[in-house]
Amino acid sequence: MADLRKTCMGRSDPELANALVADSNSAVKWLASEGIRFQLSFNRQAYEVDGRIKFWGGLSLKTQDGGKGLIADYRAAAKRHGVRVAWSTALSGIQTDAVDGSLIASVKTNAQENVIKAGAIVLAAGGFESNARMRSQFLGPGWDLAMVRGTPYNTGDVLELGIQQLGAQPVGNWSGCHSVAWDAAANPNTGDRVASNEFTKSGYPLGLMINVDGRRFVDEGIDMRNFTYAKFGRAILQQPEQAAFQVWDSRTKPWLRPEEYREERVEHISADTLEELVEKCASCGLQNREAFLHTLREYNEAVYAHRRENPSATWDPAIKDGLSTQSSAKQLALAKSNWALPLDQGPYLAIKVTCGITFTFGGLKVDARNAQMIASATGQPIPGVYCVGEMMGGLFYSNYPGGSGLTSGAVFGRRAGKAAAAAAHKRGSRREVHMILL
Ligand SMILES: Cc1cc2nc3c(=O)[nH]c(=O)nc-3n(C[C@H](O)[C@H](O)[C@H](O)COP(=O)(O)OP(=O)(O)OC[C@H]3O[C@@H](n4cnc5c(N)ncnc54)[C@H](O)[C@@H]3O)c2cc1C
Repeated sequence: MADLRKTCMGRSDPELANALVADSNSAVKWLASEGIRFQLSFNRQAYEVDGRIKFWGGLSLKTQDGGKGLIADYRAAAKRHGVRVAWSTALSGIQTDAVDGSLIASVKTNAQENVIKAGAIVLAAGGFESNARMRSQFLGPGWDLAMVRGTPYNTGDVLELGIQQLGAQPVGNWSGCHSVAWDAAANPNTGDRVASNEFTKSGYPLGLMINVDGRRFVDEGIDMRNFTYAKFGRAILQQPEQAAFQVWDSRTKPWLRPEEYREERVEHISADTLEELVEKCASCGLQNREAFLHTLREYNEAVYAHRRENPSATWDPAIKDGLSTQSSAKQLALAKSNWALPLDQGPYLAIKVTCGITFTFGGLKVDARNAQMIASATGQPIPGVYCVGEMMGGLFYSNYPGGSGLTSGAVFGRRAGKAAAAAAHKRGSRREVHMILL
């Protein structure tokens, strides 16, 4: 709860936040009991310090094989429970049957239109992160240029449908989103199912981020990665050409995650000296060589000065170690507050990043108890319709604590599933029904 309060400026809907925190532990255990494979996240959330593996982020579990493994396990569990899945089937409308009160969903499958009669509907069709027009409309200028990290199908169509056809109440942070440092050479319009999360570039706490004008623009060490990575995408988008270089020297390179930084995955800009690095970055879009070099040298001087004043301080990437650029002798206008090692030992490495958008924060209002959608005009629940995941508004504002997206989907998905099944069952006592999971 403290993490949510800190990252979301205390703006999260308290009922949603309470439900998320209260059910998160049991939701994970329930998923495990349904065959979802969890393991300790040694590679993403731990560093080996003094011979011990230290988990630093309060997020020690991950699913086996990431998103790919999660979906494979969900599909196996759904099959075991007899859930029928219709692929390439887009919801285009929802109406209520005037005669029997059931829900009628219009769906498009290629050129065909069909209807599905349902006792209850759980909407889980994502935000509007894949829709360049809506991004620039709601998130602001420049957001049409962000790169899409995931599915190209989260176009906001079902958000609009909920508002326009069902009268759902829009809530939450419609100008906010989750966005990260992302490989500048990735496909702008869609994620990659094979590379998946490997285009993410979260190694900046170990080094520096410098824009094409040669200037730093964030405190790379302000907090642990899980509290900064989802907002630094926005900071990169706001830079000239929506781009930045992440830079390390030979001390910190070995600490980078191989999945994100191995040469097969991302173009390495390598050099033995800072001067050579600058020349190579210039051929990759750096526009101000002198400013780039000046930034690195001034940073190094500030780190040396801090070291002279704090000779016993030790570098530890698993805690906020206080190794900074700010001492009584020298301060940078933009600090690096933790993990500030000098960049003075070649060979050096730079890679180019841009902004990758994960999901949007604005969504639809629900009753926290069962994720039932709330009508704008009456403030009352809309019969039989539930809404979860990215479509649910009111939980995240401005930033986000790492891992809480999938946790929210699991917690409210489970609540909605139970309530929708009960509603469908009730109607089913009178007529044949289906529950649609999108
Ligand atoms: C690369 C990457 C890494 C991530 N890493 C993490 C992480 O480590 N931890 C974490 O918590 N979160 C992570 N996330 C975020 C998390 O995966 C998502 O927020 C979460 O999957 C959202 O779930 P959802 O059900 O709301 O939407 P989605 O999982 O996006 O599913 C929405 C589905 O709706 C479908 N759809 C859209 N429109 C329609 C329509 N009209 N009709 C029918 N179907 C439609 C889409 O095709 C899609 O399949 C990551 C996301 C990405 C892209």
